[in-house]
Amino acid sequence: MASRREFLAASAVLGAASIGLLSTARVLASSKEDRDRLSPVDVINMMKDGNERFRRGLRVNRDFLREQRERAAGQFPAAVILSCIDSRAPAELIMDLGIGDVFNARVAGNVANPDILGSLEFACHVAGAKVVLVLGHSSCGAIAGAIDGVELGQLTGLLSRIRPAVAETSYEGARRSSDAVFVERVARTNVERTIGVIRKESLILRELERKEAIAIAGAMYDLKTATVSFLPPYER
Ligand SMILES: [Zn+2]
Repeated sequence: MASRREFLAASAVLGAASIGLLSTARVLASSKEDRDRLSPVDVINMMKDGNERFRRGLRVNRDFLREQRERAAGQFPAAVILSCIDSRAPAELIMDLGIGDVFNARVAGNVANPDILGSLEFACHVAGAKVVLVLGHSSCGAIAGAIDGVELGQLTGLLSRIRPAVAETSYEGARRSSDAVFVERVARTNVERTIGVIRKESLILRELERKEAIAIAGAMYDLKTATVSFLPPYER
């Protein structure tokens, strides 16, 4: 049975969720105007609240068919998420998001290449998304592969984009893929490096960020605790 403290904590989350979602009909934004009124930090806070609901088992009871019908005529997503292909880290589910809420680019190790950068530019400059979120995760196989120097077909080139993060990660313990803490540290460095690549290679996104029209944020998802932790300056 839930303790009184747990009950109160759950009530507080439900209260926050209903306040945050009251005017948006269970989606981040129910119209383009709704979305355009949100600041990048508003959108980040909504994603944080969504992860809080997910990890407490308090997901919004969605009618996906209704969301599908309402969004069929057009989309106005509030963010674009660049995340890993890992089957255990589906961005929309772990942040309790609905159909049409976010764009999601997925590639092993959440790295940026010209096609990914073009997708992020489309999401923000053309479609009006307010946040680019680079989302890494613990126990990432791509990160482990980069640490181990795996060479395999086209994967070799992909892992070469991650490998600098291995060298840039300072760590006192064993610098091996069998060390989960080292893998997690490299994954975090890799998120920071990907943000650096986005700012360096995309003039469009750099300018949107400078004008504060968008935020480019990083976060790590912990597979064991179900927690999405935003990196500075967007940590709680
Ligand atoms: Zn991964």
